[in-house]
Amino acid sequence: MFNKILIANRGEIAIRIMRACRELGIRTVAVYSDADRNAQHVQFADEAMFIGDAAPKESYLNADVLIQAARNSQSDAVHPGYGFLSENASFAAAVESANLTFIGPSADSIRAMGDKVESKILMKKSGVPTVPGYEGLEGYDDFKKAAKKIGYPVLIKAAAGGGGRGMRVVNTESELKEAIELAEREALNAFGDERLLIEKYLAEAHHIEIQVFGDKHGNFVHLFERECSVQRRHQKIIEESPSPLLTPELREQMGQAAVNAARAVGYYNAGTVEFIFDPNLSSFFFLEMNTRLQVEHPVTELVTGLDLVHWQIRIAAGEKFPFTQSELHQHGHAIECRVYAEDPSTGFLPSTGRLLQFIPPHGPGIRVDSGFATGDEVTHFYDPLLAKLIVHAGSREDAIKRMKNALNDFIVHGVVTNIDYMRAVLETDDFKQGKVSTRWAETKFGEWNVPQPDLHALIAAALADVVFVGGRAQSAVSNETDPFNPWKQTGNYRN
Ligand code: ADP
Ligand code: ADP
Ligand code: MG
Repeated sequence: MFNKILIANRGEIAIRIMRACRELGIRTVAVYSDADRNAQHVQFADEAMFIGDAAPKESYLNADVLIQAARNSQSDAVHPGYGFLSENASFAAAVESANLTFIGPSADSIRAMGDKVESKILMKKSGVPTVPGYEGLEGYDDFKKAAKKIGYPVLIKAAAGGGGRGMRVVNTESELKEAIELAEREALNAFGDERLLIEKYLAEAHHIEIQVFGDKHGNFVHLFERECSVQRRHQKIIEESPSPLLTPELREQMGQAAVNAARAVGYYNAGTVEFIFDPNLSSFFFLEMNTRLQVEHPVTELVTGLDLVHWQIRIAAGEKFPFTQSELHQHGHAIECRVYAEDPSTGFLPSTGRLLQFIPPHGPGIRVDSGFATGDEVTHFYDPLLAKLIVHAGSREDAIKRMKNALNDFIVHGVVTNIDYMRAVLETDDFKQGKVSTRWAETKFGEWNVPQPDLHALIAAALADVVFVGGRAQSAVSNETDPFNPWKQTGNYRN
């Protein structure tokens, strides 16, 4: 087993990984940029290394500096978390070349799945169902013919796309030419690669993904599905497991297809195979494989009882996955809400500022993964994810109730959040009946009205401002670099 792991990430996921390390008796090394000197993940780690300026390019995306930090701290492995360099094949290869273990799949697997064109071709060959469409087209005429064969609406995607970027829906032939030109330019700017693919746009579809695990001994299992259809700008906001749509037969078929996809690229470690599911046809199609730990992994942890990060680490260290498929089961129902510092009244623009009060809910069946505490600054440099709120209950109905109460009890002052928005989503009949497709939040639920701030909240925020001044002295002490300073024990995560 490893002695020390460097976590090449920040925020909630860095802390999540450190918790697992601590439970496995492994020392942790945090990295931090200029903007993160006082961040919770730095205080939580056993050691911390400064890696550069606030801009991600200068720090969390700087492979050389990260590898140097891992060497200098005498770490023996690197966990990349999600986002940043987690799906960068060159980074994975460079980590391994530096005689460190990359906690994730091989660079070859990442490369094979990182390209939407290459992976789609590979999946077709491996018998995994894909969305009807075409790859490798050149010139407008080819696209025009392809779109006609597929039938409008069609979706144009960047081969190198990710994070919901570089996609364009085209409803009629008259929009096609301009859409291709814009998509090519956008893809070139964002990813340095203008290749596109075209496929059928499934307007009423659900996003259902399967968590898979492979070990380094050729064994594969899946840990069932997550339904992630509540999305804005193709980004997930609410995820759950089980999916309200799947029958045991479909679950079995999708699980098998996901395992086949992983096997096709000689996959090991945790991965997620994303499918788009058409409830009218009862058919599912491969979208992409995310070759890393996923943001929404906690819902799978709560229904399976497995710690996914433990298993990532143990598999990276060469252990065999000890369970066969038939020994794995889903228990109860789990839902995750991504609490963002975003303002629904301004089209969900990030809301930055100091957290005057940040009091997550607690109680039976409630889990909060966060990288923030009262007094912390939410900056514009990074993803505005404040916390992941995850609940577990015996049934979907009870999980929804539990989540509504937990959202209600979540106190955040100082920045605007999407908490009320998510509560409103959970109140709808469509959500309760599991009828939410990936376009639902932006179309059917588009007219949601932002509630006016209430007086109590404003007064509480003003009071918190006063109380906060007292809290500052303690955080100054606990931010000292000496990891063994006993004052650190009074930090928020140790209490
Ligand atoms: P998921 O399906 O887990 O939401 P995404 O592909 O949408 O995965 O991205 C995961 C997270 O990583 C998101 O929070 C996103 O903001 C972040 N992310 C995606 N791409 C990058 C990148 N190039 N640099 C930094 N963060 C990124
Ligand atoms: P990314 O790499 O940006 O995550 P994906 O291919 O995983 O790209 O797609 C992101 C989201 O876009 C999906 O979750 C789904 O909501 C939507 N989407 C992708 N392909 C289609 C399609 N063919 N039809 C309808 N929606 C799609
Ligand atoms: Mg995706």
